[in-house]
Amino acid sequence: MSDNVLVINAGSSSLKYSLIDAVSGEAAAAGLVERIGEPEGHHLHRGPDGEISISLKVASHEDALRAALDAFEQHGPSLDDLTAVGHRVVHGGSRFGDPALIDDDLVAAVTELVPLAPLHNPANLEGIRVARRLFPDLPQVAVFDTAFHQTLEPAAYTYAVPLAWRDDHGIRRYGFHGTSHAFVSAEAARFLGRDLAEMNMIVLHLGNGCSAAAIRGGVSVDTSMGMTPLEGLVMGTRSGDLDPAIHAHLVRELGWTVEEVDRALNSASGLKGLAGANDFRELSTRMEAGDPAAQLAFDVYCHRIKKYIGAYYAVLGTVDAIVFTAGVGQHSAPVRAASLTGLDRLGIQLDPARNNATTPGTVSTDDSAVTVLVIPTNEEWQIARETTTLLR
Ligand code: AMP
Repeated sequence: MSDNVLVINAGSSSLKYSLIDAVSGEAAAAGLVERIGEPEGHHLHRGPDGEISISLKVASHEDALRAALDAFEQHGPSLDDLTAVGHRVVHGGSRFGDPALIDDDLVAAVTELVPLAPLHNPANLEGIRVARRLFPDLPQVAVFDTAFHQTLEPAAYTYAVPLAWRDDHGIRRYGFHGTSHAFVSAEAARFLGRDLAEMNMIVLHLGNGCSAAAIRGGVSVDTSMGMTPLEGLVMGTRSGDLDPAIHAHLVRELGWTVEEVDRALNSASGLKGLAGANDFRELSTRMEAGDPAAQLAFDVYCHRIKKYIGAYYAVLGTVDAIVFTAGVGQHSAPVRAASLTGLDRLGIQLDPARNNATTPGTVSTDDSAVTVLVIPTNEEWQIARETTTLLR
């Protein structure tokens, strides 16, 4: 069995793929087919021939995967010694605490979970259906975003709502970004030369979606995203935490439908709602130019992160490391600085020069009791690893 895994991340109108060596993490090729179902789509394939960019109409996810396979055939690398296909699946509910081999039962189980993730699971299922058709002889594995957080205790995952909601409708915290939190926490321990089982960490995944996780000995004990990826930190277009009564207020006062409220909180809130831009780089440029809306967005974003650090510090009791990852976490020194200022009494001391350097690694001072790290995430590699581990 080779270690080559084709990792597929199917979104509602896009299909991302990479061919990864599960042991080395090396991606021999990666690509993205976008705007599926629109009059003009786009395909980017990066492989041995460099970057190939093609505009084309992509009617369906099947067309998208066929376009990817064509690109592999024309531009390489060969898919001849592919071992398996690994799929990112967003919601595994309470049922999946581990990756699982894909068969008809699994497809049925993930379909049952669609009400919990109406935007994501149908797209993931479409990716699975298409890949099973095009690779009928290869084992395929589902790796769930929620699985890593299935270790939360009832006190951490239970919402204070009536029993029937919880029992009959699966209403509880599940948490997401689990693949990233698992990868980054293990990498952080490896980087420090320490045993993951003996470390307490707070991991901050700050990308377009953002989440925090409290991790004790490699095990998730709390996380900021909830039943859906809307809860918690301020994100690119999602509000994160807010008073749940705001929903009813919008319905009553503005006459909005439930769908309108849902769309506004998922797609028009967060940094976009605060400052009209969800790209953090644009926000930073505007902030440096003195734009007050961009400054407020930055302040709200960092204040929320700081609150979660405090909360998870209390949950864990002691903290060995705080780890920043994903686009903003990895690249924005001002976010790290603003989120950690004033926390010296918690043993957190950022080293400004290290924090401003662009290389990943330690950004705290040598005598900071809590080590602050910048660790790039690699969800594709983690999916490839979990896929081959399950198959072996
Ligand atoms: P991700 O979802 O991990 O790809 O992260 C996307 C977010 O990271 C976007 O808001 C980007 O603007 C932000 N980002 C990427 N590179 C940088 C950078 N150099 N400085 C600040 N933010 C960045």
